Amino acid sequence: MSNLSVRTKVFIWLSLFLAVSDALFVWINYRAEQTRFQNHLEQRASYLHDLFAVELGNTSLRMQQTATFIASMPDVQEAFQRGRTAVEAEGGGAGGVRAQQARERLLKLVNVPWQELRKNFDTRQLHFQFGANATSFLRVHATDRYGDNLEGVRHTIFDAIRDQSPKEGFECGRIICGIRGVTPVFMNGRHSSDAFVGVLEAGTSFRTLLELLEKPSQAQFAVLLSMPHLTETYFPDRLATLVRENPPINGNIVEATLHPEVRDLLAMGEIDALVKNTGSTWLRVGKRHMAFTAFPLKDYLGQQDAGRAPVGTVLAWMDVSADIAQLDRDLQFNIAYAVVAFLAIEFLLFVALRKATATLETVIDYQTAELRDMAAHDELTGLYNRHYLDEFLKKEYALAHRQGRTFSVAIMDLDRFKDINDVHGHLVGDRVLVDASALVKHRLRASDLAFRFGGEEFLLIFPDTHLEDAHKLCDDLRRQLGGHALGGLEQGKATASFGVAQMAKAYESPEALIDRADHALYRAKNSGRNRVESADGT
Ligand code: GH3
Ligand code: MG
Ligand code: MG
Repeated sequence: MSNLSVRTKVFIWLSLFLAVSDALFVWINYRAEQTRFQNHLEQRASYLHDLFAVELGNTSLRMQQTATFIASMPDVQEAFQRGRTAVEAEGGGAGGVRAQQARERLLKLVNVPWQELRKNFDTRQLHFQFGANATSFLRVHATDRYGDNLEGVRHTIFDAIRDQSPKEGFECGRIICGIRGVTPVFMNGRHSSDAFVGVLEAGTSFRTLLELLEKPSQAQFAVLLSMPHLTETYFPDRLATLVRENPPINGNIVEATLHPEVRDLLAMGEIDALVKNTGSTWLRVGKRHMAFTAFPLKDYLGQQDAGRAPVGTVLAWMDVSADIAQLDRDLQFNIAYAVVAFLAIEFLLFVALRKATATLETVIDYQTAELRDMAAHDELTGLYNRHYLDEFLKKEYALAHRQGRTFSVAIMDLDRFKDINDVHGHLVGDRVLVDASALVKHRLRASDLAFRFGGEEFLLIFPDTHLEDAHKLCDDLRRQLGGHALGGLEQGKATASFGVAQMAKAYESPEALIDRADHALYRAKNSGRNRVESADGT
């Protein structure tokens, strides 16, 4: 029983260990898959970032070319030059009547190409400026606004005037933000300081850029601009209009997107955090899993100076439901695999443990039986020793009482055994003991029992036997002993005396019964030995 519980314990512990390592296997696998997926997303994010940067560069350059195309028209150069001279003569800023005439002429000259550019090249701004303070002379896209100084806001323009060389990049102005290309305007194509009139800027929005990006990247984009930056650059009334038409979400204006539903995404806490911290993540949106990446948007100044704060954030996202479904399938497969493996190993473990313990139990049972047998028997004679005598006697008593039967006992003692030892030696004495025991065993009935009680004393139990019959049996045994050449000595040399007693009807301890038999033996010895005496009082 205790064997079984040890086996059960071993089985439970091994199973527990197995279950834990199995679960660990699934978990580590799942974590590795997730990490792999996260890496994959980060790679994609950096690809999207690069793609965006490249397209931004291309668009800027396209605006640069557009401005250069207009700036190379001699009529335009001349009208612009005239306007500048007029403004300077009429007190700067917006200038006066002459300046206005020049402005109108310039507008007329560029109007046709402007419409073409707007239609075919997505040009949104065309803007002439001149002078150290970058004074706005004509906004072709907002003809009612001119004469303001752009210094401190429009760094592309200011730098282009200062360096008399082209500048490009994303930048927010007083009216609008855009991807800009600014080019110097020289009179008659002479690229020298004395021929320098001012600069012409062409600008566009992010819309075309996003259209160009989304197809090859299979991602969706939104360009966000931070409110603090817009507050710094915009005309206050323009900002008020912008905020009214396009309310900011979590401190950002959605500058450009092809997906108006991005407003819902931006309202989510996780996306807001991602926009603030940039990076990549994936999460569940409704029924779909979406991956998001956010990277900072640097404007013209930010691109020159890496330490400058970004002016906004670019958010890109895509549906990764298929990838997540694959991850889930992999996880399910791993769990199923782990469970099947667990059950299979459990089964094998159970069978192996059972087999091993069964073999062990057989060996133990056999050895235990052998040990019991060894403990119960006398080494020299092979008879029972007195170790279990009490047990046997109690059993006989119980049986006798229960079934209304009786039993008798006898003490058999070899006569003058000391002399035999003395005359023939101890070894011969031993042989006499062995032969006498063999004879007793042989002559007794199957149900009778024989114990080696002491040195040369034996106790015999005769179940279901009355005193007279026991007496007769003992007497027969006595004769047999006397008629054999025990221990190689001549016949009759070794004899035995017997004291017989039957169990008392009233309760009697085994000791008392043996005591009565012993008394009878005593009488037999005293009456000359080699005889049987019975105790009275049954
Ligand atoms: P009695 O007829 O009165 O029984 O005389 P006895 O000599 O047989 O009785 P006693 O009790 O004086 O001596 C018993 C002797 O039996 C003493 C002891 O040396 C001997 N003996 C006891 N056990 C063994 C044994 O295992 N082997 C041998 N060889 N002798 C034994
Ligand atoms: Mg004796
Ligand atoms: Mg004796």
